[in-house]
Amino acid sequence: MKISIIGTGHVGLVSGVCLAEKGHQVICVDVDQDKVNQINQGTSPIYEKGLEDLLKKNLDSNLRATTEFYRAVIETDLSLIAVGTPFDGTEIDLSFVETVSRHIGKVLKDKDAYHVVVVKSTVVPGTTDEVVLPILEETSGKTAGIDFGVGMNPEFLREGEAVHDFMFPDRIVFGGMDQRTIDALEELYGVFDGADKLRTNNKTAEMIKYASNSLLATMISFSNEIANLCSAIGDIDVVDVMEGVHLDKRLSPILPDGERIFPGFTTFLEAGCGFGGSCFPKDVKALIAHGKRHDRPMRLLNEVMRINEEQPRKVLSILKNHFPRLEGLRVTVLGLAFKPGTDDMRGSPAIPIIKELLAQNALIKAYDPVAKSNAQGLFNDDNISFCKDLDDAVQNVHAILLITRWEEFKKIPELLRDLDQQPIVIDGRRMLDKRSVARYEGIGL
Ligand code: NAD
Repeated sequence: MKISIIGTGHVGLVSGVCLAEKGHQVICVDVDQDKVNQINQGTSPIYEKGLEDLLKKNLDSNLRATTEFYRAVIETDLSLIAVGTPFDGTEIDLSFVETVSRHIGKVLKDKDAYHVVVVKSTVVPGTTDEVVLPILEETSGKTAGIDFGVGMNPEFLREGEAVHDFMFPDRIVFGGMDQRTIDALEELYGVFDGADKLRTNNKTAEMIKYASNSLLATMISFSNEIANLCSAIGDIDVVDVMEGVHLDKRLSPILPDGERIFPGFTTFLEAGCGFGGSCFPKDVKALIAHGKRHDRPMRLLNEVMRINEEQPRKVLSILKNHFPRLEGLRVTVLGLAFKPGTDDMRGSPAIPIIKELLAQNALIKAYDPVAKSNAQGLFNDDNISFCKDLDDAVQNVHAILLITRWEEFKKIPELLRDLDQQPIVIDGRRMLDKRSVARYEGIGL
């Protein structure tokens, strides 16, 4: 199938590369000429395991990038909209989606063949039918359902595992205004045999994405609320508590042969310094705002966000218990990306933590296996230096704050063993064995 993907960011690029790998003819469109040039030279503008190899493999044969919107849409049968949908402080900002819809509509005006427009961006329920579709009709002068179809296909890939998730999806949701649109999506994703496919209307498809993200965010804030109470009471470690919770057979079923399975979602029932990223925070906030619009205050989700916004500060309050004055204190921040496997720092808990340390004149060493250059773009201050490796990062500091659960950080106990002065390690992800370092502290301990 010939497809154009409008917006070549995390979702657009991964979708484009993977759909090309599956045999479709893909044109990735972006307004960012640098990004387009990089892609056409075989370089991935973002870090994702395996992405660059697949990009190189499919370039020129099944995949190319362009800024030429008109040609890309007119030459293809189906367009996926994958531009950003940020939270503007009050509600979801649909301006990128609206702009792209207008551009597509203008192309459709000149196009005789039937075309399908599919929203892949995360948009609040009602957007595809009540915002995108009318813009397409107005700018094209044509009729949805006759001249073109409008669908919604939310994306569930996880940053850090994006290529794997796209290639081996757990589910594919086809939202469509009519059967013809859904049929086009069936054709697009027919090459993904194993995945469960759910066919529904556009609003339901939109809501599935928000319900999924909100559930996971709720589980994280629930675990953090329990963790904070454990710390306040004393003599309870939230890691032991959550281990006991996970052993409920409704969370970790026991197979007939006695083996117990721990489904991935139990990892969301663990304490830490909060969720970040470009999706959970903005999506939960957008749904809260959307609830308000519909006279449904989202009370639970309001608290989920409030708990999450306070959580990075827990790491700092543990630090202050040990060092009431942070001025001149040498502190290492380990992990800058919002989660392992990505260089994305959007919404990372490391950001408010570093900002506060800088405000209090601490001297910061920061290290992340892949997010260094993004972090350098965010923090330009004499009091922060970026380390080349973990070994360098842990030397000669008073405290180490562990913020991202990178596998590499499991080496910390070994690296600290021979140091004369033992720093205090504050484990914001509870990923180290608390007995493995001389001076250990953690969320929920
Ligand atoms: P992103 O910011 O990484 O990429 C958006 C891209 O769109 C950018 O490259 C930008 O230059 C481009 N763009 C903006 N205006 C454009 C225009 N008029 N024409 C062409 N290109 C344009 O965003 P993202 O992280 O890929 O997210 C895209 C959508 O997917 C969002 O709605 C997000 O919520 C959703 N989503 C993201 C993830 C994720 O893990 N990042 C997962 C699932 C869903």
